[in-house]
Amino acid sequence: MTTVTDTTPAPAAPARRPLSDLQEEPKGNAEKVLVGVFVAVPMLALIAAVPLAWGWGLGWHDVILAIVFYYFTGLGISLGFHRYFTHGSFKAKEPLRVLMAVAGSMAIEGPLLTWVADHRRHHKYSDKEGDPHSPWRFGDDWKALAKGLTWAHIGWLFDANHTSREKFCPDLLADKRMARISGLFPALVAVSLLAPALIGGLWSWSWQGAVTAFFWASLVRVAFLHHVTWSINSICHTFGKEEFEVRDKSRNVNWLAILSFGESWHNLHHADPTCARHGALRGQIDTAGRLIWFFEKAGWAYDVRWPDATRLAPRQTRARRLGAMTRQPETEPIRRAQA
Ligand SMILES: [Zn+2]
Ligand SMILES: [Zn+2]
Repeated sequence: MTTVTDTTPAPAAPARRPLSDLQEEPKGNAEKVLVGVFVAVPMLALIAAVPLAWGWGLGWHDVILAIVFYYFTGLGISLGFHRYFTHGSFKAKEPLRVLMAVAGSMAIEGPLLTWVADHRRHHKYSDKEGDPHSPWRFGDDWKALAKGLTWAHIGWLFDANHTSREKFCPDLLADKRMARISGLFPALVAVSLLAPALIGGLWSWSWQGAVTAFFWASLVRVAFLHHVTWSINSICHTFGKEEFEVRDKSRNVNWLAILSFGESWHNLHHADPTCARHGALRGQIDTAGRLIWFFEKAGWAYDVRWPDATRLAPRQTRARRLGAMTRQPETEPIRRAQA
């Protein structure tokens, strides 16, 4: 490569340009390989898991650890990274903020600031050009859609373009503590992978217990949560019900509700992104929403943006009753008066 010596004087500081959507530094090959390792290794483990389950090497310790870590990290994403940090659907006391940032990082879906920047860009462009992971990127015939679903599920992770943090999450960049936790991502990945092995080993007081816990509660758990999260990008933008009017292809998918902690009520989420409860209709299970309700009762969360009947009712495609936690126009002033 040749370099040209430029003798022209340096230009004066340019006038403030509008920030670009993308970071100036694209992803390098090493980073792509690293993403590949983190996608492929847990996925291979997941495939290998099935025959293993019938042999040796799966005990109650492993099942319990896998479920506990799945819930801790999955809620870190759903309640923390998504509803709190990306959309500000409630306010939280400092210890809870730190806990959410740590738990979400341990899901191994990227550092806090990257996750939030990508997701805010997704909402800005939702299924249009600029959306980092729309399944409709290549068109809407079945072939384009098959390609698009793969892209939305997994392919976009390998895109060389980084979403600009300066443009999409200046609030978190300015938040020293959260920016620091975001920078601690590699260490939190290590904790997330090693903690189950350590606990499993001590619990069973054996090396085998450490190995099986690492397999089930680290690798399989991470892979499973990855696929559930990515399904929100792929499946919930393609299949399911449009229960609220939206300008994109986001849909409500009921069979993913429990596994995704309520994130699969994605159609409501795009209709009203700051709403703290995504399963806003009666009977829609929303674990993260329920936990926010619990945190509010305990005084750790406040100013929660619960579903608002006045806002949501006109957007419903079909009349269905909104669930518990919904603010009704008549009852709210009375409740305030009693308080
Ligand atoms: Zn979406
Ligand atoms: Zn969102």
